[in-house]
Order: sequence, then structure tokens, then C-alpha cells
Amino acid sequence: MKKDIVVIGAGPAGLSLACSLADSLLELLVVERQDREKLCDPQFDGRDIALTHFSRKILERMDVWSRMPVDETYSIREARVLDGDSPYTLQFDCSDITEGILGYIVSNHLICRALYEKATILDNVELLTEVSVTNVQTDGGGARISLSNGNTVEAALVVSADSRFSEIRRKMGISADMHDFGRVCIVCRMRHERPHEGIAHECFFYGQTLAVLPLADRESSIVITVSSSKANHIMDMTSHEFNRHVQGQYKGKLGRMELSSDKYLYPLVAVWASRFVGQRFALIGDAAVGMHPVTAHGFNLGLRSQHTLARLIIAATQSGADIGSVGLLNHYHSTHRRVARPIYLGTNAIVELFTNDGPLHRLARKAVLRFGNVFPPIRHVITRQLTATGG
Ligand SMILES: Cc1cc2nc3c(=O)[nH]c(=O)nc-3n(C[C@H](O)[C@H](O)[C@H](O)COP(=O)(O)OP(=O)(O)OC[C@H]3O[C@@H](n4cnc5c(N)ncnc54)[C@H](O)[C@@H]3O)c2cc1C
Repeated sequence: MKKDIVVIGAGPAGLSLACSLADSLLELLVVERQDREKLCDPQFDGRDIALTHFSRKILERMDVWSRMPVDETYSIREARVLDGDSPYTLQFDCSDITEGILGYIVSNHLICRALYEKATILDNVELLTEVSVTNVQTDGGGARISLSNGNTVEAALVVSADSRFSEIRRKMGISADMHDFGRVCIVCRMRHERPHEGIAHECFFYGQTLAVLPLADRESSIVITVSSSKANHIMDMTSHEFNRHVQGQYKGKLGRMELSSDKYLYPLVAVWASRFVGQRFALIGDAAVGMHPVTAHGFNLGLRSQHTLARLIIAATQSGADIGSVGLLNHYHSTHRRVARPIYLGTNAIVELFTNDGPLHRLARKAVLRFGNVFPPIRHVITRQLTATGG
């Protein structure tokens, strides 16, 4: 089989690239090891994804935003950061930005469903499911992709969107820094007595962090980050015990709270690939940069990576240039690196500062929160960075 581009993985990053190249006249093959049923009807997995303004624009351009249910697309009006038991908060509100809201929240499974719906109506995109890519070989002239069904595909470019633990990245000889935080995220939804008023909270308690993200009027997405050794204890709590636990931590701010979904557990490992490209090969999504979810930027960066790559590919096809050229790939690498590096390092620094409970770190946390409030320009820069207003 011959294709222009082979995309490995039909997760949100891989499917986004397929959608971005809808009008490119390039023939794409997307290879996914999961079965089609899981892709076309993904189930709630506990992840409610905070999306930036720029991500919304990308999803709109791809004709994907309108495929997500309006009544399940929520807005964040304000965000507050709390440290320990102190009532002092660092506040980010939309007075700093013209869009009127800080960002959006959409459940991961709804994003995936909408991307699948769009990608599978495109004439230039073929989706192969229940098949894995087992190997990739490239040279100056092209790439050969070996599949688990015994077939081989030839292409001008291979794009790996095969998760932060990407096997193909390793097979292509690209190393990656991996940082295992020794912690896990427990995510779920909870209903509550009082309205959240569109306010998101990130509470850095000692030993545990709690993020509360606004969904419908009296329902929120809950993200608990805790040491892996304590995870089972929380996962094994009955609903009643869990409700009391979260309500107590949140100091009853939302009144009575009640679990409204299952609880889901995700180990926390950050990944930074040493290069985002190889010969006729590019990494996008988590395969390039796998983020700690505290700044809610993983998929936002994934969308950004495929957007950058797709624009370069489209420009190359319009000028009759090679879509797998060294120049194009290096351009992609340097552009995405410039965007992702500060967010990746900033996020890891926040995690280090706010999850280390030593006395010096506690002092530094308080200082950082006050500094942020006292110097509005700093807060403004952070708000613009985190909400990606204007792209
Ligand atoms: C608790 C939690 C909360 C989060 N919150 C946010 C948030 O608020 N905002 C945000 O922007 N991001 C958030 N994220 C991050 C976001 O979920 C990820 O960045 C995103 O899902 C990664 O998408 P991906 O397509 O790169 O990878 P994946 O979703 O991992 O998809 C990879 C795909 O590749 C397939 N695959 C792998 N190997 C092969 C192979 N060899 N052959 C064929 N197929 C293969 C897999 O089956 C899979 O379908 C959060 C993550 C977590 C865990």
C-alpha cells in the first residue's frame, strides 16, 4: 500500500492531524491498535479537559467544535489557587482578557467522539483499526511502515501520535526524558449543593492537591493528586467516605458533595522527547510532550503540535515541495519546542514547588502566591499563557 502520510495512533492528537489535513489532497492512513467500537463510542474516562481559546479556534477550523454537545461544553470564569490551610488565594479572572472567560471544559470522551466523527467522513483519510504499527524504517526517499497484520505501507512521512510511552519513538532512536512523579491523579465528577459560579480551584494542601473544575451549575470535575502509596486508600473508599473526604478538604465551600461518576486513576509521568523529528518522521501529542495535568496543557499542546505540523505540510503541498523534507521537519521541531518548552518547565516547577512540603518550599509557595497578586503584569502574563488568548 502507498500513502502520503501514515499517522500512528487514533487518539485525540492523531485524529486531529487527520482533520487538519482534510483539504490537503494528501492520502492519509491512520493506524490504531484499538477496535473501532471503542473509537466511535468512547466512554467517559473521568478526564474533563480544560481547553484554551486557541484550542477552541483550532477545533472550530477543523469543524470539530460544533460536533461537541453545546450543553456539555462548560466555561471557566475565574481560577483561584490556594496554599495549605491559608485562606489567601491567587486569583485569575477574565478582566485581563478580552474573551470574557478563561477557558472551556469538555469531557475527553466527547472530544474523541467528535474527532472520530469528523475524521471518518473525510475521503482522503483511511482508518485501520485493531492493527498496530510494529516497525518504521526510513531513508532519504521515503518510509516503510510494518503493520501487525503482516502488511507494509510506504509513505513520504510518518507521524507518531502513539502516547507518551511511544514505542515507535524508541524504535526511531529518539530518546525521551521521563519524570515519574511517584504520584497519581484520581478523577471523577461530583454534584454539590451550592453553585460553583464558574470558578475553578486548585488547592495545594500538604500531601495532596485538589482541583475543582466547574461543569454544569451544581456539578464539578474533581482531580485529586496524591502519592501512589495512598491511592488505593482513596480508590477503595465507599461513596459515602469519599464524599465526606472531599467535602472536608474543600471546607464545605460547595455545601454537601456527592460522587456522580466512577473514580478513575492515572499515574503521573511527564515526558519530553529529545527531538520531535527524525528522518521522514515526526512526533505529535503526548508522544512529543507528555505533561503533568496540573496546568491542564497536555491536549492543548497536542493540538498545537499537530496544528503547527499541518500548516507546514499544507504550505509544502501548495508549493510542490517534499512533505517529509529535513527543512520542514526541523521547522516543526523548533517551532513546537519554542512553544512547549516554557510550559513544560513551568509546569514541572509548579509541581516541584507545590507538592514538596518542606519548610522552605512552604515559604516559597506563600511568597509566589502573594507576588502573583501584588504584581498584576505577572498575573496578566500567566493568564495569557495559560488561556492561550490570541494563540
Ligand atoms: C487526569 C488527566 C487530566 C487531564 N486534563 C487535561 C486538561 O485539562 N487539558 C489538557 O489539555 N490535557 C489534559 N490531559 C492530557 C490529555 O488527556 C492528553 O494530552 C491526550 O489525551 C493525549 O492524546 P494523544 O493522542 O497524544 O495520546 P493518547 O490519547 O495516549 O493516544 C495514543 C493512541 O495511540 C494508539 N497506539 C499506541 N501505540 C500504537 C501502535 N504501535 N500502533 C497503533 N496504535 C498505537 C493507542 O491505542 C492510543 O489510541 C489530562 C490527562 C490526564 C491523565
